Parts: sequence; C-alpha cells; structure tokens
Amino acid sequence: MSSSAIQPSTVDVVIVGAGFSGLYLLHRFEKEGFSARCFERGDGVGGTWYWNRYPGARCDVESMQYSYGFNEDLQQEWHWPEKFSAQADILAYANHVADRFDLRKYITLETEVRASHYDEAARVWHVETDKGEKVTCKYFIMAGGCISTAQVPKFEGLADYKGEKYHTGNWPHEPVSFKGKRVAVIGTGSTGIQAIPVIAEEAAHLAVFQRQANYSIPARNMPMTEDYATSWKDGYAEKRAEMRYQPNGMLREVNDVSALDVSEEKRQRIYEQRWKEGTGAFLGAFNDILTNKAANDTMAEFVRNKIRSIVKDPVTAEILCPKTHPIGTKRICIDSGYYQTFNRENVELVDISQKPIERLTEKGLVANGREFEFDAIVFATGFDAMTGTLFNVDIRGRDGLALKKKWEAGPRTYLGLMTESFPNMFIITGPGSPSVKGNMINTIEQHVDMVTDTMIHMRKQGLDLIEPALKAEDEWVDHVQEVAYKTLFPQANSWYMGANIPGKPRLFMPYIAGVGSYRRTCEDVVAENYRGFRFEAKRQDMAAE
Ligand code: NAP
Repeated sequence: MSSSAIQPSTVDVVIVGAGFSGLYLLHRFEKEGFSARCFERGDGVGGTWYWNRYPGARCDVESMQYSYGFNEDLQQEWHWPEKFSAQADILAYANHVADRFDLRKYITLETEVRASHYDEAARVWHVETDKGEKVTCKYFIMAGGCISTAQVPKFEGLADYKGEKYHTGNWPHEPVSFKGKRVAVIGTGSTGIQAIPVIAEEAAHLAVFQRQANYSIPARNMPMTEDYATSWKDGYAEKRAEMRYQPNGMLREVNDVSALDVSEEKRQRIYEQRWKEGTGAFLGAFNDILTNKAANDTMAEFVRNKIRSIVKDPVTAEILCPKTHPIGTKRICIDSGYYQTFNRENVELVDISQKPIERLTEKGLVANGREFEFDAIVFATGFDAMTGTLFNVDIRGRDGLALKKKWEAGPRTYLGLMTESFPNMFIITGPGSPSVKGNMINTIEQHVDMVTDTMIHMRKQGLDLIEPALKAEDEWVDHVQEVAYKTLFPQANSWYMGANIPGKPRLFMPYIAGVGSYRRTCEDVVAENYRGFRFEAKRQDMAAE
C-alpha cells in the first residue's frame, strides 16, 4: 500500500510506473537525495509481472540472472524456487525489494499519469493524474515498460460476445477456472504458447486460433538446486560484471562458429544437444543464425522436424511448423509441453493464416466460415509495444509539441533515453535502447544508473537542463535501423517492427547491436563530456530558487 501521508506537489522527479525500473529509480534517488514521486496504475508494484498473471506465465531468462545486481546482500539472501521463475515468484521478489528498501512511501498506486507538459519558462514539467492531482517536477521519467499496453484486435462484433473475455496482459487477480468450459485462445506468441498447455489441462475443450506459427523451444525448467544457486552466489558480483558486457546481458554459451562451417552430422548433433539443454542456449548454437538466411534455415528446419516428430497428426504438425519468418526474428518462445498439447483429444488447432477471424458473435466467433461457441475467449494477442504506453500519456515538450506528433512516422530517440524537444524527460528502455533484446533487468539497471549519474553531474555543475542534439538523435535513429537491417530481423512481421498494430509505422524499434556494446557506447558518450547532449546552466533569474 502507498503511504497515506500527504505527498508533496513539487518534487525533483516524477516517475511513471512502479515496475523494476521505477523501483530501482526510487532507490537510487533516495540514496542520492533527489525527491521523487512515482505513480502506478496497478494496485501493487511489479509492472509487467503484476499484470501478466495468466496461467503458465514464466520468465524465459534464468532466475539467477533475471534479478537485480545492484545490492550484494539482496542477491545473496533471495531464494528462487525454480531455474526459470514463475510470475508469482517474480512478483514476490518485486514486493520484497519494495519493502526491503522502504520504497512504498514514494508510490501512489491505482493512479495513472494522464498528462505531462513542459513549461519552458519555468523549466519544469507539470504532471497531472487521472485523480486530478497536479505535481510539478524538474525531471520527468517514463518507466512504464515496453510491453505494457495490451491490445485486443478490433474484431467486428467484439462487443456482441457475451461470454467470459480475458487478455493475458490484463489478467484478473481472482482465480479463473476453465474447468468444464469451452475455451478459445487467440494468439500463439510467447504468451499464448505458455498459457495453452495449462488451459488445455483444465478446459473441457480448447480451440487455438493461430495466424502465424511460431518457433518454440523447451524450457527444461526444474526446481532450483542448492548447488546451482551456490554456483551463482559464489562470485555473484564478478558474474554480474561479466553479464553487463554480454550481447544479451546474460551469461550463456555461444558457439562462435558458422552453422555452415560444420558438417551436416555435426550441425544436427549440436542442435540436438542444445534442444536437450533447452531455451537460452538454443539460438547460441552458431554465430550466424540471425545474420545468414542459409544458416538460419538449418536451425529452422531442425525445429520444424522436432514439431513433426512430437505432433502425431501430420496435418496439425504441418500447420504448427513456422514458415513465415526466420527463426529468432520474432522473440523465440519457450514452452513446457506446447507441441505435445496438440496430441490431446480436447485440443483443436484452427488455422486462420489464410482468412482472418470474420467476427465475434454473442456466443463465440466465426472463422473459416464456421461458427464456434465458447464459454471463454482468451486474447493472447500481444501489446502495442514500445510506444503504446508512452502515447497513453499526453506528453508535450517545447512549444507544446506532442510526443505522438513528433513520433508520427516512428519513434525518435538518442540512445533510447531521451528525445529532442523534450528537455529533462528520460525514458527507461525506450525505443532505440536494447531493452527487450536482452536481459531486461540488466538493461534497466544500466539506464537507471546513467540517468541518476547524469542528474548528479548536473547538480554538481549547476546545470538545469539536458536535451539531446537533433543531429545526435537523427544519427542514432539511422544507426539503430542500419544495425537491424544487417540482420534477418526485419524479415519478420513482428512487434519489434510495429507490424502487429494496423497502421503503426514500420521501423525496427529495439537496438540490437548488443547490450554490452550499447553500454560501452554510453560510457564513451559520458567520457566525451556527454557527446550528443546539450546542457544549459541554471538561469540567473532562477538562481535564487
Ligand atoms: P505477440 O508475440 O505479439 O503474439 C501475439 C499473438 O496474437 C500472435 O500469435 C499474433 O499472430 C496473434 N494475433 C494478433 N492479432 C491477431 C488477430 N487480429 N487475429 C489473430 N491473431 C492475432 O504477443 P505476446 O505473446 O503477448 O508476447 C509479447 C512479448 O512479451 C514477447 O515477444 C516477449 O518479449 C514477451 N513475453 C515474454 C515471456 C517470457 O519471458 N517467457 C512470456 C510472454 C511474453 P501473428 O503472429 O500472426 O501476428
């Protein structure tokens, strides 16, 4: 619960979102003496892990790595029950962090920031919430996450459907029972693939509506062993230091060899071995899977053959075999028994690749000319990623310029952290940052440290305003695209490209040169006197304030 004490209406910083970014920002600001308030639309902390409590929700980064590294005691004392954590365990961890560092007093729950307008004359941001509260701050930080605006496609007849409706990213807090029910799941991305096997076990009948098939790798999750946890905890600080400079912000074994430089037999042996190990290791089987289509094809075909060997009905197996994009160019899914689920009597796969769902009806939906009736429909249809949450706030910078207007042809940032014309506004894991292309918590810590250290620098130097130069921003936007187009990523209609939202500009949003190289670039930027940023000193007329 947030503090009931009267909260100040003027602070150094306002933060939107009490997920992993918001919590660490608050911790650093408290230590460094910046006053802060944080607004969170949920009635608890944890962000993504607060909202995504659908059946089977689990992280695809190992627990020992998907956790904060900023405090040695925290990482030594916390116990993760499983190798890959379930949503409830990650949420418990977020709550533990909020309590352990006494951060709740800064957080106003169940409150959305509606607008934030920059006042150029006073050099402050005026923030307004949906409860009508107004707060003035020098720094405004959007920390609302990359995949936090759930999207239900605008199906014809959506409002007509009278049965139960759920979106995985907005799951009820009360238990949901599918026992004895006819259930539909629409969507087979990372989320659908986790939820489907769990729902199938409970429902009387499950129909899965698949538009494009996806590649999924077995998670091979297991209970955490004392030995494994200790192998991390001994020398955790050194391991974290190494992780920070890895391409994905995590430690995993990458085989630095082309898939085309080994014999067919050896290639299959390596894939087989990595398939047995499960998830994280799989894409690291060779070094050119994401840059060379011929190399990629060998891995894609290996996975398709696995699907054909698991799924008994050959027609269903073929529909489940992904053919629309190279493997890894959409987030690779991890699963626990996903393909096996289609061998169950009560599960049906509905291929909607050729014709979209026609409409929803009072009792279900119509697809492929057939009428389906359901007691519950689960939308696992993803998010208006990376920009949706930023656009939910009416953000206006210099001269009243709306962020939505500035980014109408696609997001524009410098380092994914700031955008020109919006002074003193930071974005944590914004478009143009490595964000979703690595271990999120690692990248979050890097961003938070850089932002906080920049604010400390400004305080020491008597600087009042920071803003990226337009030239630096333009160059960064071009660089992000250039790096992406050297890979196979743009060949997929993915949410990375904005392709999942009709009408959204197509542009590769995350920065994929690697977490480690991004960190080095940021270090160079700072060392070169904040190359690409411009500062303004405190104005004389404000000096007395
Ligand atoms: P997603 O990857 O965008 O998948 C959405 C699914 O809904 C796709 O199968 C998509 O089909 C389908 N869909 C969308 N609109 C549709 C329509 N109008 N008709 C029929 N089908 C439609 O979303 P997500 O699965 O929620 O995953 C989003 C991201 O969250 C992941 O990529 C990952 O980064 C993260 N995530 C991570 C984990 C983890 O750590 N394990 C778990 C879950 C999610 P198409 O493919 O044809 O567009």
